[in-house]
Amino acid sequence: MSNQSLSKRDLSVLWHPCTQMKDHESSAIIPIKKAYGVWLEDFDGNRYLDAISSWWVNLFGHANPHINAALKDQIDHLEQVIFAGFSHEPAIKLAEQLVAVTPPGLKRCFYADNGSAAVEVALKMSFHYWRNNNQAQKTKFITLENSYHGETLGALAVGNVALYKETYAPLLMEVITVPGPDCYHRESGESWADYSTRRFALMEQTLQQHAESVCAVIIEPLVQCAGNMRMYDPIYLSLLRAACDKYQVHLIVDEIAVGFGRTGTLFACEQAAISPDFMCLSKGLTGGYLPLSAVMTTNKIYQAFYDDYHKLNAFLHSHSYTGNALACRAGLASLELFQQNNVIENNKRLAAIMKTMTAHFIEHPHVAEVRQIGMIVAIELVKNKLSKEPYPWQERRGLKVYQYALTKGVLLRPLGNVIYFMPPYVISEEELYIIAKVAFDGIQWALKD
Ligand SMILES: *Cc1c(COP(=O)(O)O)cnc(C)c1O
Repeated sequence: MSNQSLSKRDLSVLWHPCTQMKDHESSAIIPIKKAYGVWLEDFDGNRYLDAISSWWVNLFGHANPHINAALKDQIDHLEQVIFAGFSHEPAIKLAEQLVAVTPPGLKRCFYADNGSAAVEVALKMSFHYWRNNNQAQKTKFITLENSYHGETLGALAVGNVALYKETYAPLLMEVITVPGPDCYHRESGESWADYSTRRFALMEQTLQQHAESVCAVIIEPLVQCAGNMRMYDPIYLSLLRAACDKYQVHLIVDEIAVGFGRTGTLFACEQAAISPDFMCLSKGLTGGYLPLSAVMTTNKIYQAFYDDYHKLNAFLHSHSYTGNALACRAGLASLELFQQNNVIENNKRLAAIMKTMTAHFIEHPHVAEVRQIGMIVAIELVKNKLSKEPYPWQERRGLKVYQYALTKGVLLRPLGNVIYFMPPYVISEEELYIIAKVAFDGIQWALKD
């Protein structure tokens, strides 16, 4: 088996996610034979450094010995069982631990099997909570400009990235979209905190005006990842928590991408010292091994559904693979690694290296900003540095960086014209410097004309 023979078979039967399949007439698809640590290896023996954690899911490297051992043990005991009327130890233990490590007040765990499904669950629970409390007039959701919450119709509706959403607009529920705190747009000399605070006025106004009909505000804390890794100050979350309480609206925090240490704390919410009413988790939840998601919520929400059956107040949402035993066990093994290896503390050292290794990027005449929160660094490429005029999307500059980096053995996958690094936490200093060098050379190459 070779790259060529497998990619030929692949392209004759498969349809890949988020891909214009015709692109593969000119660029190969890469079949991976095995992976270990931060490295992927294809069928021709080429290696690729996984600088984006395989779409933001991997935390402790591929083929992590500890997670592998846990899964091998689990598979001989229980792989999957119906999760209504039945339960199992990995699901119980993982829920106990999630309750323990998430912000105070989040006492209940509802499992689903991917991030979008978790968002759907949180939206439905919030809506249903108000119904059960005789406030059926609350039917709307407030979302931020440039937000992303997944691809299923409900999750897509509360997101705001035009590229993914526009086509399906006629199918989507109406939401209230508020301009966001994205600090890329701050005035020169303005601090992140000042800009984020200033932008909150628009949210406050919207809440004041619409609270009566609004179930919840949904937000990605600190980083709008799919929205080009745009970042903002924690002050926005503190203000939002207070305003949601004031106006009697739920706060849904989507930590699907940023949860489990990405931003420097176990959860991004911690940096604003807030507890949401719902927290959506997925991606890193299983260390990047298996699809699983969880919606954490409060006892107050839970109690609004807890009643005699004939009142018909129950949350009747389900997925076939809810609480999959293997996935829960991977989640437990991943949390064990956080504890055993003092990961949050060690990541501070890695984040400092990431800062140092990208400091010189800003000197490039087409780099408008280098921004970082914890284990995420993003580099914004622009046509005009002064006006921040972007490169026309048709030029696909980011794609050129991607293609260049692949030839040098690094998997970067820019978002439009934003190059970012979001590596697994087991990466070494040498490997980080490889990423930085290849990215910088790739930028030079992609922008040379
Ligand atoms: C990836 C992502 C989702 C969707 O998760 P899927 O598992 O891909 O459905 C939702 N919200 C955020 C912030 C994400 O990054």
